[in-house]
Amino acid sequence: MRQAGRINALALAEMAAVVRPGIATRELDALAEKVITQHQGVPAFKGYPGPYPYPFSVTVSVNEELVHGLPGPRVLRAGDVVSLDCGTVYQGFYADSAITVGVGTLSPLAQRLVEITEQALHVGIKWMRPGQRTGDSAAAMQVFVEDHGFRMVRDYTSHGIGRHMHEDPEVRYYVKPGTGTLLRPGMTIALEPMVLVSSGETRVKPDRWTVVSADGAPTAHFEHTVAVTEGEPEILTLPEDT
Ligand code: MG
Ligand code: MG
Repeated sequence: MRQAGRINALALAEMAAVVRPGIATRELDALAEKVITQHQGVPAFKGYPGPYPYPFSVTVSVNEELVHGLPGPRVLRAGDVVSLDCGTVYQGFYADSAITVGVGTLSPLAQRLVEITEQALHVGIKWMRPGQRTGDSAAAMQVFVEDHGFRMVRDYTSHGIGRHMHEDPEVRYYVKPGTGTLLRPGMTIALEPMVLVSSGETRVKPDRWTVVSADGAPTAHFEHTVAVTEGEPEILTLPEDT
């Protein structure tokens, strides 16, 4: 899973490095697929079951699109908020991580949203310790997000990961601390705050994959695959040199 995580981090970093006005979202998908396969990984998203098998290696979700955006001919423009989500399988083990990046300069609201979402992920990671429960992490992230005036998604969750991309436990938001699965060393969880501006409500676009904010406002999403250890939580989806 560490190796899958490193490859996945590299794919995200290479995509982020080429995000600019004028690039089409399908170019990002092609780049990530190249990086993953060059490192003997397999794109985990391609063919993933859903309304129809997921056709691409990454999801690219722009502005009001929160998650599961389909890459395509859409061209990015300055001011767009772009969430990149990617999964890698390496020798049967999965990693899943996501980042949100701005194209050029973002509006102050969007910039703040992105910063708070990334910080919320790290708030949640701090709770990934033996003896805590999944609800402790989820509630801490949600409180952090709400304290900064934003809303956590209602209908999507963080999740266990390992020999499959989505495993138990499901880590829901809008739960109380002290609830959920007791964390033990060796558990691996894909922690992924999805943050919205005025409400946590979403809807799905007619393409049946893309999830958008109900209020039409920009959204942000960060994710790491994290291992619970005897001590500090270990983030598995970091580049090799960190
Ligand atoms: Mg993901
Ligand atoms: Mg995930």
